[in-house]
Amino acid sequence: MAIRVVVSGAGGRMGRHVLKEVINAADLELVGGVDPAHLGEDLGILAGMSPLGISVQKDLVTTLRASKADVMVDFTTPMVAFDNIVAAVECGVRPVVGTTGMGQAELERIRELCDERDIGCVIAPNFALGAVVMMHLCKIAAPYFPQVEIIELHHDQKIDAPSGTAIKTAEMILSNRSGGSEKDQGQDFVEKVKGVRGGNFGGVQIHSVRLPGLVAHQEVIFGLEGQTVTIRHDSFSRDSFMPGVLLAVRRVGAIKGVMYGLEGLLFAD
Ligand code: NAP
Repeated sequence: MAIRVVVSGAGGRMGRHVLKEVINAADLELVGGVDPAHLGEDLGILAGMSPLGISVQKDLVTTLRASKADVMVDFTTPMVAFDNIVAAVECGVRPVVGTTGMGQAELERIRELCDERDIGCVIAPNFALGAVVMMHLCKIAAPYFPQVEIIELHHDQKIDAPSGTAIKTAEMILSNRSGGSEKDQGQDFVEKVKGVRGGNFGGVQIHSVRLPGLVAHQEVIFGLEGQTVTIRHDSFSRDSFMPGVLLAVRRVGAIKGVMYGLEGLLFAD
């Protein structure tokens, strides 16, 4: 039986790509879309395809219930994603979430709720398979390099900074690092332009670049006396995220609780 999918943020840049992929997948069925900015528009048209006869709705809970959805895919904004996830879990619908910018307390609450309700959920700050590999390589390099800086580069419409990928990368580096402290990260300098050294996340310096022409890119530079190692990933198009989104949609039914990041699915076998 096909997995029944509702897309939240259906009219957005990511949402439209997800609509198209779900429509094209034989084992998935697109049963609804929610996006207050695109009320009444046909989901097929939004996907750049033939009309599907299903129009964009305003209310998520009504849509999830009426469509008997199995999975909700959310690519919205950090301001609404938490409420959308809670609503889905309370309806017994599994969330697959790409929206970035949610806080740690919100993530913890979602973990508790999914455990209480015994509902699987995937939240991934980056669904591009190459980005997951990039983060994994950074974790491997971390113990050998006490100093590292992250430069994340995104399109100029992105509303949160730093990116969820940069935060997750820093967390993975810190989880596999023995030494390293804020002092290692060059605290003794004169800042002639405020903020010029970026932001400090637990001792890892992060720099956010926002420019038209970019999609989603990240460079992680590890430095040691006389040498550097640079690990870089580039998403040149939003198609790069789609295999990861579909993998999560297909596998979330077998997941217990919240899986944060896609590496648990990619490196599990
Ligand atoms: P976008 O183009 O702004 O799309 C978001 C859409 O959600 C907009 O149409 C927005 O409408 C709509 N929306 C707002 N409130 C809503 C609600 N309550 N219910 C349903 N829809 C609602 O943004 P995007 O570029 O697609 O990115 C979406 C999110 O995904 C961002 O957080 C971005 O950082 C993240 N992202 C993640 C990955 C990943 O791999 N995990 C990759 C790319 C992007 P309005 O325009 O009226 O607000």
